[in-house]
Amino acid sequence: MDTDWAAAATGFVIDNNVLIIAGSLVGASGIILTKIMCKAMNRSLTNVLFGTMEPTSATPDADEVYKTVKAVSAEEIALLLENARRVVIVPGYGMAVSRSQHAVRDLANLLEARGAAVEYAIHPVAGRMPGHMNVLLAEANVPYDKLVEMDHINPTMETVYVAIVIGANDVVNPVARTDPGSPIAGMPIIDVNRARTVVVIKRSLSPGFAGIPNPLFAAANTLMFFNDGKKAMLELTSAVKEL
Ligand code: NDP
Repeated sequence: MDTDWAAAATGFVIDNNVLIIAGSLVGASGIILTKIMCKAMNRSLTNVLFGTMEPTSATPDADEVYKTVKAVSAEEIALLLENARRVVIVPGYGMAVSRSQHAVRDLANLLEARGAAVEYAIHPVAGRMPGHMNVLLAEANVPYDKLVEMDHINPTMETVYVAIVIGANDVVNPVARTDPGSPIAGMPIIDVNRARTVVVIKRSLSPGFAGIPNPLFAAANTLMFFNDGKKAMLELTSAVKEL
């Protein structure tokens, strides 16, 4: 039994209402979060618990997919950001790993001070637990109203000048829509590929949790900035300050 339900049961045994209520609340939150996670991954609970997310024999070869990847520097991205009136930041697991949420907020504040509108596009299963990105960005004091849920931001993606993807991979992988044989088929994604320009920050072309290549990285409107998330944000902030 989970510690939450165990706490509630102990509450009954020792007649302690606080323990019963607190235990039940934590247990119920777990069920709600699990339900949100299954919906966001478009998978059943059994599949999430016992299934695997792995490449299959039909998964395309990474070398083929990545033939047209373009890498850029912080200075080149800064030039692009100079004229960007609407910027959307899409965080993923790599933001958590690189602990870059404060540096992300500093870059966003700087862009806003220079006249851009900046929002954060939040995928419900970005990271490794539901709400992972919300927690990290709240810790960095990013105002809650700047976090826009996937379903709300997707229809507006065409008016985004620059989408900055920091450490996200599966949650922006268009094969979820286009390849029914993919392990992430049917998973809702953030449609960054429809922004005018996409800047993807990650260290390499390594796959994410699902272990599959992401054709977004080789798309005509995508620029790769190969770097650790935090270092990338600090370099970008300096480059924008020098404009
Ligand atoms: P992904 O796991 O798809 O990709 C994360 C990317 O982060 C990697 O490709 C990696 O690339 C990059 N990264 C790692 N470290 C760094 C770093 N220091 N700096 C910059 N980038 C870094 O993450 P997403 O958030 O897009 O997707 C989450 C995945 O996890 C989904 O498949 C989801 O289904 C799954 N999942 C989510 C759960 C949840 O509740 N949130 C629970 C269970 C699974 P590189 O190594 O090249 O840097």
